[in-house]
Amino acid sequence: MQKFQDLPYKRPDPKVALAILKESKKMLKKAKSPEDAQAAYLKLNEIASELLSMKAIATIRSMLDMNDEFYASELRYRSLKSIHVQLHLAFTVKAFAKSKHRGAIEERFGPQTFIYREAMLKWGGLKAAKETKIENELVTKYRKLMASFKVELNGEQYGFYDLLKRVQSINREERQVAFHAFAGFHADNAKELDGIYDQLLKVRVKKAKKFGFDKYIDYAYASKRREYTPKETANFRESVKKHIVPLYAQIAETQRQRHGLETLTFFDETVFYPDGNPQLLGEYDDVIAATGKMFEGLSPETGEFFKFMTDYNLIDLEARPGKQLGGFCNMILEYKAPYIFGNFNGTSDDVFMITHEAGHAFQAYLASRKQELAEYYASTSEINEIHAMAMEFFPYPWMELYFGEDAEKYRVMRIAKRLYSILYHVCVDEFQEEVYNNPTMTADQRRQVWKTIENKYVPWCNYDGNEYFASGGSWMIHQHIVLYPFYIIEYALSQICAYQYYARSLENSEAAWADYMKLCAAGGSKGYFELLKEGNLENPLEDKTVEETAAKVKAILKM
Ligand code: ZN
Repeated sequence: MQKFQDLPYKRPDPKVALAILKESKKMLKKAKSPEDAQAAYLKLNEIASELLSMKAIATIRSMLDMNDEFYASELRYRSLKSIHVQLHLAFTVKAFAKSKHRGAIEERFGPQTFIYREAMLKWGGLKAAKETKIENELVTKYRKLMASFKVELNGEQYGFYDLLKRVQSINREERQVAFHAFAGFHADNAKELDGIYDQLLKVRVKKAKKFGFDKYIDYAYASKRREYTPKETANFRESVKKHIVPLYAQIAETQRQRHGLETLTFFDETVFYPDGNPQLLGEYDDVIAATGKMFEGLSPETGEFFKFMTDYNLIDLEARPGKQLGGFCNMILEYKAPYIFGNFNGTSDDVFMITHEAGHAFQAYLASRKQELAEYYASTSEINEIHAMAMEFFPYPWMELYFGEDAEKYRVMRIAKRLYSILYHVCVDEFQEEVYNNPTMTADQRRQVWKTIENKYVPWCNYDGNEYFASGGSWMIHQHIVLYPFYIIEYALSQICAYQYYARSLENSEAAWADYMKLCAAGGSKGYFELLKEGNLENPLEDKTVEETAAKVKAILKM
């Protein structure tokens, strides 16, 4: 394999993909033994690499340089041409699913492959094409509105992320002014934002009906292949209220005292330590070098993985003009090569970002070397996020490499911050359940709903007298609500599992690491609950698990 920048890119030829499908169908037809049928199925699986490898390269290169017209136009061309191949893929998969050899295929690869493929066909199809198109247009409109975000402060213009950074300023006055400006943008644009959301709700409910669901929530659960019900999620939220809310209330109270404030406001909560959050010791190259040392120390597998990533230039975390914002991990199937993309900002968040995305990448690296089918390289988000979130914790003994004497401050802060996120994940989840079950609610009624829910899970929340946010308008800062309906609770469930690994690693690091590796290598080869068992994790949907996890986190934080 060559370094990432030298990897050849060629426009995928739909004919090659179609030839693979044809060949696999032919092999299936001629199959006389279980082995023949299994070989035919492996042939079909080559389609994933053929379709997705060049897409990954084009996507990454176009995001590294958004001014690059070549890869942008390649991606547009690709999405135009892929529908035809997708259709043929659907026919081929159906042929396998109906074949008398299905049992032989399941015997070797497990039944999960058909569960996965049949779901892809069912939910990815053209059944609600009109509604999906309208939905995408509305989401684009929303993204544009948020991207136009500009607020003037003391004669300077601030975009969304710049302002959000200022809301976390160590100078209290500065963050207070920034916060009110941030809330002000949402209040000023409330009418338009509410209007977009109203239309989105309508079209999403319609879409669910097309698939035969009366309630959008049931469509959301089915299409996300969730193995648990809305009722179980509601119980999980109850557990969070019972066990995590009181624990975080204590953390918030400690924070208030540390800051010496009468009341801790929303913008004070983001600054964990009054004298500032822990500072990184070095520059970009130092952080990457520290990460190499850290992964070498953690295990032979992570050492080998990170060497592979740096040898082939599969990491780009430097912020540059013209580079897309955000962070993600992608996978170039043909080379079994994960890619880590992100934008460092020089704060302790960089360590959180590199460990999280490296968790995704390490898992893909392991599973792609262990699993035969490409669709098993990863699982659903409930599992994938465990890989990433646990990797934020496992390397904690090496945090001194990044922060020196401040390492313990970093550990405590991150453990607490992750707990705080759970509170908002359940808020966002419950809010969506209410809203989608009553899609004709007015914008004012929705704000009332948010206010009630936020008060339940974050009762100490204080918006410093900002009228719009205090009356429930703050739901709009949680962009997931608009962009990815019902995609949130996965994070809270994964977090409970990541804490389990961390707590166990403090008692027996070798055993905890072995369980984690087992979970990573299993990828998406099994269902959710089976994978939890494989990784030796307690089911986060059970009250007992949340209770025990909260108790362990409390002990770790010495509270
Ligand atoms: Zn992630």
